[in-house]
Amino acid sequence: MIATYPFSAVVGLDDLKLALVLNAVSPRVGGVLVRGEKGTAKSTIVRALAAQLPPVEAVTGCRFACDPAAPDPACPDGPHEPGEQRLRRPAALVELPVGASEDRLVGALDVERALTEGVKAFQPGLLAAAHRGVLYVDEVNLLHDHLVDLLLDAAALGTCYVERETVSVRHAARFLLVGTMNPEEGELRPQLLDRFGLTVEVRASRDPGERAEVVRRRLAFEAGPEEFAGRWAAEESALAGRIARARDRLPGVRLPDARLRQIATVCAAFEVDGLRADLVTASAAMAHAVWQGRQVVTTDDVRAAARLSLPHRRRRDPFDAPGLDEELLERLLEETSGPDDPDDPDDPHGPDGPGDDGPGDGGPVGGGPDGLGPGDGGSSGESAGLGSETSREDAGSHPQGVDGQAAGTAEAGPQAVDGPAGSRPAAPAGRPAGAAEPYRVPLLQVPGLGEGAAGRRSRARSAHGRVTGARRPRGRLHGLHLTATILAAAPHQRTRGRTGPGLLLRADDLREVVREGREGNLVLFVVDASGSMAARRRMTAVKTAVLSLLLDAYQRRDKVGLVTFRGAAAEVVLPPTSSVEAGAARLRSLPTGGRTPLAAGLAKAADVLRVERVRDPARRPLLVLVTDGRATAGGDVERAAGMLDGTASVVVDCESGPVRLGLAVRLAARLRARLLPLDALSDLGSAVRDYRKAV
Ligand SMILES: [Zn+2]
Repeated sequence: MIATYPFSAVVGLDDLKLALVLNAVSPRVGGVLVRGEKGTAKSTIVRALAAQLPPVEAVTGCRFACDPAAPDPACPDGPHEPGEQRLRRPAALVELPVGASEDRLVGALDVERALTEGVKAFQPGLLAAAHRGVLYVDEVNLLHDHLVDLLLDAAALGTCYVERETVSVRHAARFLLVGTMNPEEGELRPQLLDRFGLTVEVRASRDPGERAEVVRRRLAFEAGPEEFAGRWAAEESALAGRIARARDRLPGVRLPDARLRQIATVCAAFEVDGLRADLVTASAAMAHAVWQGRQVVTTDDVRAAARLSLPHRRRRDPFDAPGLDEELLERLLEETSGPDDPDDPDDPHGPDGPGDDGPGDGGPVGGGPDGLGPGDGGSSGESAGLGSETSREDAGSHPQGVDGQAAGTAEAGPQAVDGPAGSRPAAPAGRPAGAAEPYRVPLLQVPGLGEGAAGRRSRARSAHGRVTGARRPRGRLHGLHLTATILAAAPHQRTRGRTGPGLLLRADDLREVVREGREGNLVLFVVDASGSMAARRRMTAVKTAVLSLLLDAYQRRDKVGLVTFRGAAAEVVLPPTSSVEAGAARLRSLPTGGRTPLAAGLAKAADVLRVERVRDPARRPLLVLVTDGRATAGGDVERAAGMLDGTASVVVDCESGPVRLGLAVRLAARLRARLLPLDALSDLGSAVRDYRKAV
């Protein structure tokens, strides 16, 4: 086995290291969500931490890692007698792949064996494997909602319940949960964010010296992992010892009332929902205290905890990135720092002895008394929200203008997006929709039945959703359809020699359920940004429409992409991504003007779709072409349109004015696209809504 990169050798990333250590010290902290760009060694450092956890003693042969001292009474492999054979092994590090099935995560009963052989064989899943170790979920934001719920439920309860196919199994599943996500690929829903104990924002250092050191160590490690690890062995064993000692001391740590009130004040001031933030902050502060060698929680511990526990909990718009106002935190802490407990040892004298060069005072793991980073958390003001700032080219217009087009200027005030789950009321019918408020658009769908990633747009065969039929299993059985199975077996009972009661089942009688749910799609916007659109001030209305469609795509869990065409060529402004925030930001700063190379736009779209078909074959595309149909520069529109044959399309017709050429209408017919006049988009949206309400 190859050596693990040493935790102590990780350069920088102090917040992340501290968050992981606090979780290693106290399971009540509730996991870490790591947000950050790719290539920041997130998995390396999680692996490194797992190697630092105290080894686990388990009952030999128990697939659920029962502690011999306190075996799980409900253990499916139990009951275990006292004095059973035991083994000592490192704490597990289990990775949950994004494409994992529910069976893989929680385990599954082998229904086929159960029905045909009468054997009750439960196959444990990854949650069992992670018990008493670390569960690492890379790209947790891309995981199916349903799996995220199961995962977070188990993490919260410390127990995994498997209730399916008339069999229920329950086993302990306590693990340190670490999720990572790249915000560029889409945010996690706020209610899921809240269920991670801590969040940390990571980014590669911008300091050349530090970067060089990272690379130097990495190269040294790759050249000789064993030797490199050997050089850090002393630090590593000191760290492991320190974690183990902190764990031992945790039950004796004291949280003075003044500090608890301080935590409550801070949480209230940051307007977090519920009391979970208070609980997590208190747990993290207690873990931080023992980690620093204190037995009484101080303001420093509260600060260190709050910086990690609050950024993702403050109330915010769905398109805001998490972040914390550090100045506000500092002020609140100061106001409530009160008289410290008399027997409170203010100086963090390390209990670890002289041999310990651990992180007590600004060592490799940050969070010392002055451990406030230089605003890494970011502030809400710089987030790429759907219009947290007025678009540059239109600054100065009235955000609430009476005229629909002038109103399109402020794009969207911070108040304009009020909920991730479609709670936005549509603009009242009859009033021209201004861009200050993205409006609700009608549901645009890809026809047919897809098999893409779960979402809320087009119909699809899916693992979840309503049961629409039964079929013979293809490969392993997923979800028994009991009625269909009995019906399949019924005609053969006599020939199989049945005499008494009870059905004689054979493997080929088994039928599984076919479900239908909804999938997310790739919504590719192709937007005319040429002068002809801008000159007639249509661009603001167009941007509003696209923003509204983007918001809709966010709610339906689509991937989005943006191609624009103007001047001499078309450009992929936003390659397909799940980050609607990125789409909104690019759209806001979109330059306009010049000639109209429509054919180039269509050809570019065909290009993007071709590449995406290879990268993500199950995801069906929906092309949304926003144009007046005019082409004043290069390329044969007819030929370019031919490249898009077979693609589900919508043409949003932007033509306006008294004389109309109907070019977009013709283009829509050529593409076999649904045609939607720009002005009807919002009205239609509210009409659809009103209709649904009426029926
Ligand atoms: Zn057991």
